[in-house]
Amino acid sequence: MNYHKKTVRDVDVSGKKVLLRCDFNVPLDKETGAITDEKRIVASLPTIQYLLEHGAAVIACSHLGRPKGQVKPELSLKPVAERLGQLLNVDAQLAADVAGPDAAAKAAALQSGQVLLLENLRFQPEEEKNDPEFAKTLASFADLFVSDAFGTVHRAHASTAGVAAYLPAVAGLLVEKELSFLGGALEEPKRPFVAILGGSKVSDKIGVLESLLTKADAILIGGGMSYTFTKALGGKIGASLLEEDRLDFAKSIMEQAETQGVQLLLPTDSVCAHEFAADAAPETFPASEIPEDMMGLDIGPETAKRYADVIQGAGTVIWNGPMGVFEFPAFAKGTAAVAEAMAASNAVTIIGGGDSAAAANQLGFADRMTHISTGGGASLEFLEGKALPGVACLLDK
Ligand code: ADP
Ligand code: MG
Repeated sequence: MNYHKKTVRDVDVSGKKVLLRCDFNVPLDKETGAITDEKRIVASLPTIQYLLEHGAAVIACSHLGRPKGQVKPELSLKPVAERLGQLLNVDAQLAADVAGPDAAAKAAALQSGQVLLLENLRFQPEEEKNDPEFAKTLASFADLFVSDAFGTVHRAHASTAGVAAYLPAVAGLLVEKELSFLGGALEEPKRPFVAILGGSKVSDKIGVLESLLTKADAILIGGGMSYTFTKALGGKIGASLLEEDRLDFAKSIMEQAETQGVQLLLPTDSVCAHEFAADAAPETFPASEIPEDMMGLDIGPETAKRYADVIQGAGTVIWNGPMGVFEFPAFAKGTAAVAEAMAASNAVTIIGGGDSAAAANQLGFADRMTHISTGGGASLEFLEGKALPGVACLLDK
C-alpha cells in the first residue's frame, strides 16, 4: 500500500467547504447521556483549527455508537456539537439530519470559519452500505474531503471512502500522523526492527504474523497465543489457551522465521493459575512444563527480562497484543515489563491494537511511546499490509 498521501497541508483549502470525517465516537454515560471521555474530540481539534485558520468552512461528520441505520435520539451528536463548540470557541451548529434537507440547507449557508456537524452518519443505513447515491449527496455539500478518522479507514463506508469518488480527498493531521509512523515503520524501519506480538488468539494475528515475518528482524511472542506455539514444539501447556487448528500454522511460522533468519522468541517461563480469575494465586513454571490443571496467564520474569533486553537494543519496536491477562494486576507484570522496556528505550516505539493501547495507558507508559495508534482494528489491518479503503482513496503525494 502507498502510505504517501496528500494532506490538508498539500492543498489550498481557502474559501473551500470541507467535508471532514472525524472520529467522534465517544463513550456516553448510559443514564445522563453525558460524554465520559472527550479524548477523541480533543484529538480532532488540530485539523479543524488548521482548516478554519486557512479560510475553510468545516462540515464535520462522524458515527456514534451502533444505531444500525435508524434514528436513535440517544445517539445524537448533540453533546458532541456542544462540546466541540466550547473547545473551538465557535458556534458549532448541528444539522437535524445526516444528508437531508436541513443538512443541505445549513451546508449551503455555511461561511468560511464556520463549523457544521452533520447528525450521526449511522442513522442512515446507506452509510455502512457505502451507497453511492448517499455518498454523492454528502459529497455535494463540499469541495474537498478530508479523512481524519483513522479508526474507520479499514471500512469502506460512504463517509470513509465512498465520497472520494466525487471529491478530491486528502488526509487530516491525525491520519497523516498514523500514516507517517505506521507506514514509516513498515517501509523503512530503523533496525533492528523488533515486533512484539501477543493477545489472546493466534487466529486474530495470522495476517500480522505473516506480514511482520517479512519485515522484522526479531519477533517476540507472548500472551495467550504463545501456548499454541509452545504446544506445536511438543511442550506441555496444561489448561492454557490452545488453538488446536492453528498448530500447523504456528509450526510453519517458526520454520519460515528460521529460513528467513528472523529471530523468533517464545516464552521460557509462564505465570500460571488454577483458574481464570483476578484473585487466583500466581505460580511460575517453565513454559513447556505447565501442570495439567493450570493455565498460563502471563509471561514469566525470565522471559520478561529476555524480551526487555531485545527491546533495549532495537531501532524500531512495534507492539501488538498484551503479554498476559493485564486486566488482572497479578498477571500484568509481563505486559508492564515489556511496556517499560519500550518506554525506556531509544527506539521508535509504536503500539497498535485497542487492548495494547489500553494496557499502555492503564500501566502508565503511554506518554513515553513514540506513537500509539488510535485505530484498533485499523492499525491491525495496517500492520497486515492490507490496502485500507479509507487510505487508498486519498490522493497520492
Ligand atoms: P489488541 O486489542 O491489542 O490487538 P488482543 O485483542 O489480541 O489485543 O488481546 C488482548 C486480550 O488478550 C486481553 O484481553 C488479554 O486479557 C488477553 N490475553 C493475553 N494473554 C492471555 C492469556 N495468557 N490467556 C488468556 N487471555 C490472554
Ligand atoms: Mg483487542
